[in-house]
Amino acid sequence: MNLILLGAPGAGKGTQAEVISNTLNIPQISTGNILRAAVKNGTECGLKAKSFMDAGALVPDEVVIGILKDRIAEDDCKNGFILDGFPRTVPQAEALEDMGVQIDKVIEISVPDEDIKARLGGRRVCESCGATYHIEFNPPKVEGKCDKCGGNAVQRKDDAPETVIDRLKTYHEATAPLVDFYKGKGKLTTVYGQSEVSETSKLVLEAVNA
Ligand code: AMP
Repeated sequence: MNLILLGAPGAGKGTQAEVISNTLNIPQISTGNILRAAVKNGTECGLKAKSFMDAGALVPDEVVIGILKDRIAEDDCKNGFILDGFPRTVPQAEALEDMGVQIDKVIEISVPDEDIKARLGGRRVCESCGATYHIEFNPPKVEGKCDKCGGNAVQRKDDAPETVIDRLKTYHEATAPLVDFYKGKGKLTTVYGQSEVSETSKLVLEAVNA
């Protein structure tokens, strides 16, 4: 099954994509994670992407489309995949179609902007393994340290409050039109993000299995 998770930054796409990935045994493909690894490794693509990411802007379509195309050509994607953070623009969605990729379902996780701001402001991410925490709702056992691997749990540069405002603006301008794009194709289900992560997971899995 080929799935897409849509939603504003901080709506919980990454967490829910992981749940779907584990349940259906298909890989989670996060363009944000691929880009962050490229920045960390100082690759050519990482160098191109860094300034956009730090500013909370979208990386140019041709860069992300190239990354996605290479990733879904890998062997583990043969039985399907869940896209987390791609597409983020209508041209990216059209590029998927041009590649001949059939999307089975698109699940939108809807969360009000005010909740997004609170979630992202308190989010901490492990520098080593990518596990996510929230200083209030899901704090690590030892402040600043990852429960899973002991790495440093830090605030992502683009989770700074002023950058979050830009990311939300970008979401509404560039990404939200995809809701209508996929609705028009009869593929969209909207799930309302709940305060309990497990409650949202239940709704997301129901939508996947519907
Ligand atoms: P994320 O972890 O999904 O929030 O992505 C982090 C950042 O990576 C975004 O703010 C963008 O700068 C960039 N990025 C990730 N996916 C895409 C995409 N599909 N199109 C453009 N930029 C992206």
